[in-house]
Amino acid sequence: AQGWNLLKLPSRSASITTSKEDRERLRMRGLLPAGQVTMEAAVEALMEQIRDKSTDLERYILLHSIQDGCEKIYFAALMKYTKELMPIVYTPTVGQACLDWHRIYRHTPRGLYLSLEDIGHVKEALQNWPEKNIKVIVVTDGERILGLGDLGVNGMGIPVGKLALYTGKFPCAGIDPAYCLPVQLDVGTNNEALRNQPTYMGLRRQRERGPSYDQLVKEFIEAAKEEYGSSVLIQFEDFGNKNAFRLLETYSQNTCCFNDDIQGTAAVALAGLIASKKLTKRELEDETFLFFGAGEAGTGIAELVASYIAEKTSKSKTQAREKIWLFDSQGLITSQRAGDLAHHKKPFAHDFSGSSAPSSLAEAISLLRPTGLIGASAMPKVFNEEVCRKMGEINERPIIFSLSNPTSKAECTAQEAYTWTEGRCVYSSGSPMQGLTINGRDLIPGQGNNAFIFPGLGLAALAAGAKRIDEECLLIAARVLASNVDQASLDKGTIYPPVSKIRQVSTSIACEVANYMFDKGLATKEKPKDLGTYVQKLMFDPN
Ligand code: NAP
Ligand code: MN
Repeated sequence: AQGWNLLKLPSRSASITTSKEDRERLRMRGLLPAGQVTMEAAVEALMEQIRDKSTDLERYILLHSIQDGCEKIYFAALMKYTKELMPIVYTPTVGQACLDWHRIYRHTPRGLYLSLEDIGHVKEALQNWPEKNIKVIVVTDGERILGLGDLGVNGMGIPVGKLALYTGKFPCAGIDPAYCLPVQLDVGTNNEALRNQPTYMGLRRQRERGPSYDQLVKEFIEAAKEEYGSSVLIQFEDFGNKNAFRLLETYSQNTCCFNDDIQGTAAVALAGLIASKKLTKRELEDETFLFFGAGEAGTGIAELVASYIAEKTSKSKTQAREKIWLFDSQGLITSQRAGDLAHHKKPFAHDFSGSSAPSSLAEAISLLRPTGLIGASAMPKVFNEEVCRKMGEINERPIIFSLSNPTSKAECTAQEAYTWTEGRCVYSSGSPMQGLTINGRDLIPGQGNNAFIFPGLGLAALAAGAKRIDEECLLIAARVLASNVDQASLDKGTIYPPVSKIRQVSTSIACEVANYMFDKGLATKEKPKDLGTYVQKLMFDPN
């Protein structure tokens, strides 16, 4: 049943596009209609069907049923129509897909589910997965899915979506889909409404907060390294903030891993800030930043910005943090609050000279006079007219980033920020946003999309067989990304390259970061003579 199995196994995908010779060789006679359809025609037909659908969620479902049937057509479509399909496969639509995962589940395994009940048997579960040569794992525990909160095992949409980006065009990194494994850790969910849905598929219990949680994670990471080699790349995605920082701290020293919400976001935001220098005519050390949201994304970015400043100037890291302020759910973070602050916030708890610390964001802006305002709070619409206008009064070219995903959680839209600053602000967002024409000038917001960073970073780790990933890798990735923004884009206020260039950007990031890994002893492989060609060869082309 060789041919039959090939047609049934999406990742080995044979289909109507398979040539006559291959059909003969692979014993598919009679299993397909006689004609052969070109990949190009198959992709066009798929796109027509997609455009006919009336909602993005329906488009998501259709795309994934094609992925189940023939992965090659799915990836060929992603490569050709990156800009159109990215918002379907990834934010914002993936957010809707996760909310509805228990309703749209298609009974085709699309990743590995490891629950507390699998403790002691994780290796066995990994061995049940049909692919053996796994190189990249994206794992979540579903506690903070985008800005949508705890979605339990519905979070699987995130690892699946992220890995699609490793593979497709964005695939940015073109890693063979067979090398990628999405993993959902099921440790319960505190989302009671979801847990009580009749078709919810996870454990129907509160989140585990005790030692069993760590035991499951540890067993998973050890089993993955044993099964797939010690330099298998593990990307943590959308964990709740306590576990996210803790796990990164525990594993980053001895495992090839990174947390995309903390580190990937940091690199993509830093890249945007570096590119912004050409518009603001300010250096980063001249900026005063106010972060609204001091979680994984906010403090991840703040730390990396401080490292960038410290590396570039003669400042210490502590000095570099002096003009970076954080605002969380309790208000401005100051040294008065230092006693009960989480570890990741402490370095930014500065002395505040005013009589009492500001309680509102608008007040904090008036008192601190920031040049850059960066939102990563998942609090929609908090960058309101008053806030944006204040930024515009204080600065000729204010920086306003509204990074919260999906679009419904954004602190403000591009159109709002441009309107309220008369088109003067440098804006970017986490999800794609519409631009605006002001006084005959087109303003097009850039998307601070992690997909500009993680595929290239992952590809570098793969190329080098990395032992671990350090902060310098992120700084390099950010610089390379910023250097890929051209003047024509900047003229429109766009501080990121177009999404259609992701694959190219990822290749440059991969080469530069891998080069560093080889030179700094982070690699387990031998450095190839021609790194560029070597990286190119690692990339998957569904055509
Ligand atoms: P997180 O770790 O949970 O942090 C959220 C932060 O927002 C916390 O510091 C929280 O304060 C703060 N916050 C909540 N309500 C607030 C309020 N009313 N006023 C002020 N601050 C408030 O989450 P995260 O991982 O940083 O993610 C946050 C958002 O960023 C999500 O929407 C996510 O999708 C988005 N994100 C975007 C990108 C991207 O654009 N590339 C990447 C990653 C994440 P406390 O600390 O006091 O609880
Ligand atoms: Mn994420």
